Amino acid sequence: MDFSESSQIVTLLADGCGLVSLIAKGIRKIPKKTSSPLMAPLDVLTTGQVVFIPARQPGQLGVLTAWDVTDHRPNLRRNYQKILISQVLAEVTMATGPSDDAAGDVLRQLDRTISDLTAHESLRPFVAYLKYAAAAAGYAPDLTCCTRCKAPLHSNAGMMHSTVGLFCDDCCGSDVAIRVERRILVALDRLPSPCDLPDPKLQPPSDPAALVQAAHLLFIHLRAVLEDRLRLVEPFLHLFEPVVSANRPARNTAYQEVTLP
Ligand SMILES: [Zn+2]
Repeated sequence: MDFSESSQIVTLLADGCGLVSLIAKGIRKIPKKTSSPLMAPLDVLTTGQVVFIPARQPGQLGVLTAWDVTDHRPNLRRNYQKILISQVLAEVTMATGPSDDAAGDVLRQLDRTISDLTAHESLRPFVAYLKYAAAAAGYAPDLTCCTRCKAPLHSNAGMMHSTVGLFCDDCCGSDVAIRVERRILVALDRLPSPCDLPDPKLQPPSDPAALVQAAHLLFIHLRAVLEDRLRLVEPFLHLFEPVVSANRPARNTAYQEVTLP
């Protein structure tokens, strides 16, 4: 975030420190193309090592004094869709606000997710990270039982705008935000965290429409529990929902197995 003509405020996810907001003085004077690795730009989604002076009091900014970019992710930056997907990951990470203790694992999971997304086309690691981030923040969605009557979800389920959770057909009111096929709930329930996914080359082919639906479900859930608008969700859905429309099954289709994990 630009702060002045030469400075920016940067928010970093730091191992052992959680989210830290720092003022980076003079950072905007560094040319975008530089031969010195130490001076590579500190862009969104960059990984590296930093030296900073912590804030004296909560709510104040610390001061970034040095940084060494270890991965600027040039291959990711060549693809608009992948940049947007990764920005959503950054936004979700900011909104879930990992604690000091959890930051190391969140960083590891995020790094693996972005690496897999960079090298492969499947949205599976992205959905796995959304689910992981919700759970890491203490808001793992219950994908097996109706929130209201507690009955196991044997058929499709719905999410409502005003209430957190998944609801069976009997409990779903008129305020439905999204209907989710049961096969997707089952697959999402089984989906492990990004670091526990097999090597992408060894994973079974994914179902893009099912993955977008699963992402949509998790967005509604995250928005409800975090009370954060997650403003990049709409651009994401705008980009990917045509995939869902093209593959939307006819009504009353029999139960099908899908493989998110
Ligand atoms: Zn119910």
